[in-house]
Amino acid sequence: MKTGTKCIEGGYMPGNGEPRQVPIIQSTTFKYDTSADMGKLFDLEAEGYFYTRLQNPTNDFVAKKITALEGGTAGMLTSSGQAASFFSVFNLASNGDHVVASASIYGGTFNLFNVTMKRMGIDFTFVEPDCTDEELEAAFRPNTKAVFGETIANPSLVVLDIERFAKAAHDHGVPLIIDNTFATPINCRPIEWGADIVIHSTTKYMDGHDATVGGAIVDSGKFDWNAHSDKFPSLTTPDESYHGITYTERFGLEGAFITKATAQLMRDLGSIPSPMNCYILNLGLESLDVRMKRHTENGQKVAEFLAGNKNVSWIHYPGLEGDRYHALAQKYMPNGTCGVVSFGVKGGRAAAEEFMKKLRLAIIATHVADARTCVLHPASSTHRQLSDAELEACGVLPDMVRFSCGLEDSEDIIGDLRQALGE
Ligand SMILES: *Cc1c(COP(=O)(O)O)cnc(C)c1O
Repeated sequence: MKTGTKCIEGGYMPGNGEPRQVPIIQSTTFKYDTSADMGKLFDLEAEGYFYTRLQNPTNDFVAKKITALEGGTAGMLTSSGQAASFFSVFNLASNGDHVVASASIYGGTFNLFNVTMKRMGIDFTFVEPDCTDEELEAAFRPNTKAVFGETIANPSLVVLDIERFAKAAHDHGVPLIIDNTFATPINCRPIEWGADIVIHSTTKYMDGHDATVGGAIVDSGKFDWNAHSDKFPSLTTPDESYHGITYTERFGLEGAFITKATAQLMRDLGSIPSPMNCYILNLGLESLDVRMKRHTENGQKVAEFLAGNKNVSWIHYPGLEGDRYHALAQKYMPNGTCGVVSFGVKGGRAAAEEFMKKLRLAIIATHVADARTCVLHPASSTHRQLSDAELEACGVLPDMVRFSCGLEDSEDIIGDLRQALGE
C-alpha cells in the first residue's frame, strides 16, 4: 500500500459484519473466565488485554497505523509527545548513562533532557546539527546509549542530516532516535535513512485539528540489541521486574523495544492516552496525506511571499531555494517539508510583537501544525525559560516569529500577512 492508502486503511481491519470505523473500547478492564487465562497475559505468554494502563485495543489499532506509515515493526501511543520523547530515551538509558542529542530540538525536549533527565542521572551532550564529523565523534563516550535529533527542528527549521547521524550512532553501537513530528511520514520516513526509532508528538499534524494531545513511538526493528548486549542488558537479559522475561529472546528484534517500553515504562509511569483520544487521532490520520500536501503548499507560498517583503529581516524555510537547509530538504523531503515558516520582523523584538497584534486570521497560540493558521513569538512564550545563550544554541532569535500555515486558502493567509507587515 502507498502511504496515502495506509492513512485510510492501515491498522484496523474489520472482519465480516464488524464496524468500519475503529471501535472505541472505552473500558479500563477486560473480563476473563479463569485466573489461568489472565495469568498467561501477565506472563506475556498470550496476546490480549487486561488493564488499559498497559494496553488498549483502540490505542493499538491506531499505533499500528502509525507504525505502518513509518515502516516500522512495532509501535505504541503515549499521552503526549513529551512522554514519547522521555520513554524512547529512558527505555535505553538510565542513571550513569549518556546520550548525544542535536542542539536544534524542540524547547520542551531540550528542557526534559537538560534539566529533568539530568536530575535522574543521565547526561546529555548537545551537538550542533551542522558540526564537523570530528565534533560529532568527540561527543560519544563509552556510556553513550543513544543519539537523538529532529527531522525538521521545531522552531528553528534546521534539517538534520539523518544518514550522517545514523552512521555515527551505528559506528558507536547505539541507535538513532528521530522526532519526526514536523515532517510526518508523508514527507519523510527516517527509518529509510537509517533511523532506528521514530517518535512523534501526534498533537501536531497527525491529529491536525487542535483536538488531542498525544505521542507515538515506532521501532524499526532493525537495531541489533544482541550485537551490543554489553550496552543494552535490559533488553537482552532477563527482566526480574517482569517475570524474568528476556525481551529480545521472546519478542525478537522487531518487538523487543516496544514490549519493554510497555511492560516497564507504561506499567510504572502511566502516560497512556485515552481510547477516545486515540479514536480522534485516527480521524486526523485518515486525512494526513491530503492535509500535508496543502500545509506544505501553503508553507511554500507563504515563504516565497515573505522572502520578497521588505519588512522581513530574515526567513528560514527549508523549501526555499537559497535556504541553508535546502539541499538536505531536497534529499530527505523531495515532495516538500512542512507548513511552518520562521522569520524575523525588521525592528527586532518590539516590531515582532507589534506585527503579531495586527494579525487577524492567524491566531496567537502555543501550537503549530494544525488546520488553523497560528503564530507564536518563541522568545516570549515556549522558550522563555532559556537564557539568550541557550536560545541561540537552539537556533531561536529574539525577533523570531514562528508561523504555522493552516489549511485555509493561501490567498487569505498571505493577505493577512500583507496587512500586518505592510508591503
Ligand atoms: C510539540 C512537540 C513535542 C512535544 O509534544 P507534546 O505533544 O506537546 O507533549 C515534541 N517534539 C516536537 C517536535 C514538538 O513539536
